[in-house]
Amino acid sequence: MPANVARESLMSKFKAHYKKNNHPLTPEFVIAHAVPMFFFTIVGTWVIGIADVLPTIYRDKGPTTVLLQRLFVSFLFAEMMMNWLCIRYVDSSYSHYKKSGQGHSIDVEGQGDGKGKTSVENNENGSRTPQTAGLRERFVKPSSMDFSGSASKDKTGGKTVKYPYWSWCPCFQCDVMRPPRCHHCALCNTCILKRDHHCYFAGTCVGWRNLRHFVIFCLWATLACSYALVHALYYIYHYFWFRISYLDFMPPLTVLRMMLGYTSPIVVIYMSVTCFLFYFAFLSASFLLEHTMMIKNGMTSFEHDNLNRKKIEIIDNRPLSGRLQSVFGLNWGLSIFLPLHNVYPPTEDPLLWPTIKVQRHTSE
Ligand SMILES: [Zn+2]
Ligand SMILES: [Zn+2]
Repeated sequence: MPANVARESLMSKFKAHYKKNNHPLTPEFVIAHAVPMFFFTIVGTWVIGIADVLPTIYRDKGPTTVLLQRLFVSFLFAEMMMNWLCIRYVDSSYSHYKKSGQGHSIDVEGQGDGKGKTSVENNENGSRTPQTAGLRERFVKPSSMDFSGSASKDKTGGKTVKYPYWSWCPCFQCDVMRPPRCHHCALCNTCILKRDHHCYFAGTCVGWRNLRHFVIFCLWATLACSYALVHALYYIYHYFWFRISYLDFMPPLTVLRMMLGYTSPIVVIYMSVTCFLFYFAFLSASFLLEHTMMIKNGMTSFEHDNLNRKKIEIIDNRPLSGRLQSVFGLNWGLSIFLPLHNVYPPTEDPLLWPTIKVQRHTSE
């Protein structure tokens, strides 16, 4: 199966890279443990906070304060989890877009007669619209993917056909022509519209429809993790210090200490959750900052990481409100609190990108 071959090829590249650099976190390890680690930290923080930390810290302020604190923390938890579920289940794939009957699409499968030709023409915007026939017969998968575009070899003459980044180009795994900014994810095994990145903690790709949930999740996660960390450190300093040692701030050592009988399982859970909270607070804040800048500049992280901006520049001249609406839809302020992706979808066309101008600095 071509899709399996592509996935294995990507995995073998990852493996070679990690082996060469002696990286302890292999891709398999990350894929298998990211979602359980996220759940352990977030659900653990909420349960420990509600059941122990908040009642202990606010005991002297009365039951109303404890109740309000519990409600506030539960609200942060609910907003986070709602957006996490939306990242995971709001589908940004090109196949979903075509199935839902939005806009227009070009499906190559079944059209080929083995003799057809593929041509790509410029439209007035500079993006390109394909006319395809016989794609599967005419092209073979390129040996390596060039992220600044993709190159395909004509089977008959060995002629290389180059597709610039901002163009429709063939996906050999999905067997379709895909629009600009749409990229294939080997882990999701599908083409994702306006692909941003693959989120290991949600186990899916972030793209055209669910990018808003990712950014809003990062916003709530930054607030929630910071709030939890302040309380966790206060709680440890005032109520937990006598039960732990400095070594317990390193979870593997805490586990070892528990196995040797120096500490209890509750210390392992509390200290692991606290250490992971540091990690998630830093991660969500940095993602929030990074994606705020991306939306302001009208780019995706895929483009930020992979495009040679000396050669190609993506220019979005809309005012800031237009760029916010292109991700969060109309009434974007309301989307911070409610998942309104069906009511207010992103305002940009994920196939034609009429508001984006692409500037090439060198000839291709
Ligand atoms: Zn694909
Ligand atoms: Zn993916």
